[in-house]
Amino acid sequence: MVIRIPRDKHIFKFGPKLKPAAYASPGDIVIFETYDCFAGQIKKETDLVTHIDFSRVNPATGPLYVKNAERGDALVVDILDIKVNDIGICVAVKGAGVLGDKVKNDKTRICKIENKIIKFLENIEIPIRPMIGVIGVAYDEEIPTGTPYKHGGNLDTKEITIGTRIFLPVFIEGGLLAMGDLHAVQADGEICVAACEVSGEVTVKVQVLKGLAPEWPVLETDDAFYVLVSDENVEKALREATDLAVKILQSSLNISWEDAYMLASLVVDIQISQLVDPKKTVRARIPKHILKDVTKMLSAIKSSL
Ligand code: CA
Ligand code: CA
Repeated sequence: MVIRIPRDKHIFKFGPKLKPAAYASPGDIVIFETYDCFAGQIKKETDLVTHIDFSRVNPATGPLYVKNAERGDALVVDILDIKVNDIGICVAVKGAGVLGDKVKNDKTRICKIENKIIKFLENIEIPIRPMIGVIGVAYDEEIPTGTPYKHGGNLDTKEITIGTRIFLPVFIEGGLLAMGDLHAVQADGEICVAACEVSGEVTVKVQVLKGLAPEWPVLETDDAFYVLVSDENVEKALREATDLAVKILQSSLNISWEDAYMLASLVVDIQISQLVDPKKTVRARIPKHILKDVTKMLSAIKSSL
């Protein structure tokens, strides 16, 4: 069955009391229509971020109730397609981003997107690489859609793209999946606080893996797994992602912690997704030539807790 959720059904918090916007069974295909992260409030270059209603920033379309998803399960979301509309928005904002203290004037740049190419300036063009900034499930307490954490949320991770599978831990019955904040392209770090912000639609398939909720969101691509950890303190996030990757290797390969630690230094890449949200997101990349089996990988996370 194909289910479509219009963009006017959206949330601003991943909380325990959300009302479902739609229902799906495992195996269903669901299309989420999404606003850009400014909820359409920026239309031209004279519209500045400082002028908009901030209570409407980062709308996430949904939530979707997935039948048979219970606390302790993993909600499995296959990203089948991401369509982005033809206008991308970039912003520089005083005080925002890694170098916010150096911004003298707030600025908005509207970029045309044509034939999968973003026209940033007349002579600077960038191929699109569509991705989802905000994707998450309901959590035990209310978390704004602008914050990433164990439930997902504002992960701003460029690997959350077409062909990727994301595993999210279910906290509340039905999971209550919501997503938005599409980017036509974003580099690691998302250093100026925003990417090429765009509206569009995402097509996913949802499934449930019983009893295999990961501690933190996990991605699976053709060639690797990624564990995504978010914290206010980037050093703490880096340590936790590293710790989890070593435990996964130890448990899934049945080797000593010290061997897993040495092996991780050879094969696990520690990467930065974004440095600008209320919690920073880092990821540990475990290549599939070391670990292929997703059930083994998720079971390793369980047994390492
Ligand atoms: Ca974002
Ligand atoms: Ca964004």
